[in-house]
Amino acid sequence: MKKNVLVEMDHVSFKYDKEWVVKDVDLSIHKGQFLGLVGPNGSGKSTLIKLMLGLSKPDRGSIQLFGQPLKQFKDWKEVGFVSQKANSFNSGFPATVIEVVKSGLVSRIGTFKFFNQSHKAKALEALKTVEMEEFAHDNIGELSGGQQQRVFIARALVSDPSLVILDEPTVGVDSKHVTDFYNLLGRLNKEQGITLLMVTHDIGTITDHATHVVCMNKSIHFHGASEDYKEFSDEDLNQLYGHSVHQLSHNHDEVNPS
Ligand code: ADP
Repeated sequence: MKKNVLVEMDHVSFKYDKEWVVKDVDLSIHKGQFLGLVGPNGSGKSTLIKLMLGLSKPDRGSIQLFGQPLKQFKDWKEVGFVSQKANSFNSGFPATVIEVVKSGLVSRIGTFKFFNQSHKAKALEALKTVEMEEFAHDNIGELSGGQQQRVFIARALVSDPSLVILDEPTVGVDSKHVTDFYNLLGRLNKEQGITLLMVTHDIGTITDHATHVVCMNKSIHFHGASEDYKEFSDEDLNQLYGHSVHQLSHNHDEVNPS
């Protein structure tokens, strides 16, 4: 593996129908980074993540995970994923918090094996990391959106991954708790050395926490240190996106997620 490169996308392009949704993307994610992926609605961010996770296949270009071509990559316990809709269970959903977290071990132990005490201990440890241990036996649907999202982070962490990918995790999280949420991600990155890639609309907030920002609108318009991104004026950003940056709210509550 190229030293410390966990994800490497090389000239990746993808289209659902006729129109290119991801165009000629070169992107490397290095170990230890906390990368914020931003861009207007429909700019291909979720699609880029799907490509990275092997859920869609690029029409052009190649992807390597942990130094291996995606097709050969099998070590999925190294990659945690928190999807956009992870925090929308309603109160009737028949699973407890700890059951949800343990389900993150399924790819590791195989579907037909039973969970044992050590799996339970791992799940409790992951819940402790996200400060949700006391809710272990509650029903997932009874928690708030922000609490559910923490549980899904625990689910992503339970297999001790090196890389965690999050697709708009703060959508549906009460704005009072968004800062706590970013602080949690910051701790995972700095204290546990977990590499993070997070799709977000919170441009104002992400630059205070992420080490790097990638700004895409089908192709990548900027990839660099958060400090450098912060220096851009609104005019610079309009040029970067080829799009009015005012459509990208700095307040996540005002954004209608794609
Ligand atoms: P973002 O995450 O930046 O909002 P997406 O990757 O979800 O963008 O979508 C990029 C473009 O691809 C959009 O125009 C969207 O309508 C289209 N798209 C997304 N998913 C599909 C799909 N399953 N089939 C067809 N088009 C899709």
